[in-house]
Amino acid sequence: MSEFLSLYEPQLRLAAFAGVLGLMALWEIASPRRRLSSMRRHRWATNLLLAAGGTLLLRVAVPLLAVGVALEAERAGFGLFNWLKPPYALALILSILALDLTVYAQHVLFHHVPLFWRMHRVHHADTDIDVTTGIRFHPLEILVSMGIKMGVVAALGAPAAAVILFEVVLNATAMFNHANIKLPRGVDRLLRLVIVTPDMHRVHHSVRPDEHNRNFGFNLSVWDRLFSTYRAQPREGHEKMHIGLAEYPAPQPQYLGWSLWLPFAAREPRRERHA
Ligand SMILES: [Zn+2]
Ligand SMILES: [Zn+2]
Repeated sequence: MSEFLSLYEPQLRLAAFAGVLGLMALWEIASPRRRLSSMRRHRWATNLLLAAGGTLLLRVAVPLLAVGVALEAERAGFGLFNWLKPPYALALILSILALDLTVYAQHVLFHHVPLFWRMHRVHHADTDIDVTTGIRFHPLEILVSMGIKMGVVAALGAPAAAVILFEVVLNATAMFNHANIKLPRGVDRLLRLVIVTPDMHRVHHSVRPDEHNRNFGFNLSVWDRLFSTYRAQPREGHEKMHIGLAEYPAPQPQYLGWSLWLPFAAREPRRERHA
C-alpha cells in the first residue's frame, strides 16, 4: 500500500483537492447555509493564493516533508512502531488517530500562544466562511504545522501510507467543514458523532470569544468532547452569527498583501477578547 500511495502521491493529492473543492463550491451554490457578506472574487483569490504560497514554501524549505520522514524512519528502524512492529493495520490506524489528536492539540496551542496566534489569526480574519477558508492559512503556519507533524511522525515511526492518507483526508475534511453548505439537521447530528461538520466548525469562526475558543477539531469530533471544548451551536444561530475577528473588519482580510503581513503587524487591538 505504501508503494502504491507513494507512487501516485502527487496525483492523489491534486485529484482529492480539486475534486473536493469543486464539489463543495457547487454544493455552496446549490444549497448555501448562510448569505455571504462579501465579494467572493477577492476572498477566493486571496485564500487560494495563500494556500499555493504555503505549498510552495514547504517544497522549498522542507522538501523531505512528513512522508519523507516516515520513509527515512522506516529505513533507519526509528520510532515507536518501527521498534514495536505491531500489525501493519494497527500501526496505520493508531498513526492516523495520533496525527489527528496532534492537529487538535496544535490548534489549541495556536490559539493560546501569542506568537502562534499571530499566524493563526490569518485563518480567523476571513470575514466569511466557505470552502476556501479551509485552505486559508498563512504560509508560516503551514511551515510550523509541518515541523510539528514531522516530529510526531518520526517519534511514532508512522507508516508513510498513514501520513499520505491522513494529509489527503485532512485537506478534504477541512474544505468540507468550512463549506457554506446546508445539511439536514438529522444528518448533521449523526455525522458529528464522528466527524466535524460545517455547523460544528462554524461555531469556531464566531467573533464571540466564548465560541471562538471552542470546536478545535478538524477531522474527528471526539477530541472536543473528550477535552470539554465542544460547543454544539452558536448563540445567535448560524444565519445571524458574525464571522471573523471583531478587530479586523472587511474588506482588509480579503486582500493578499494584508493577510501576508498580518502576523507581523505591530498592534493588535482588543487582543484580550481572544485570549
Ligand atoms: Zn482556530
Ligand atoms: Zn477554521
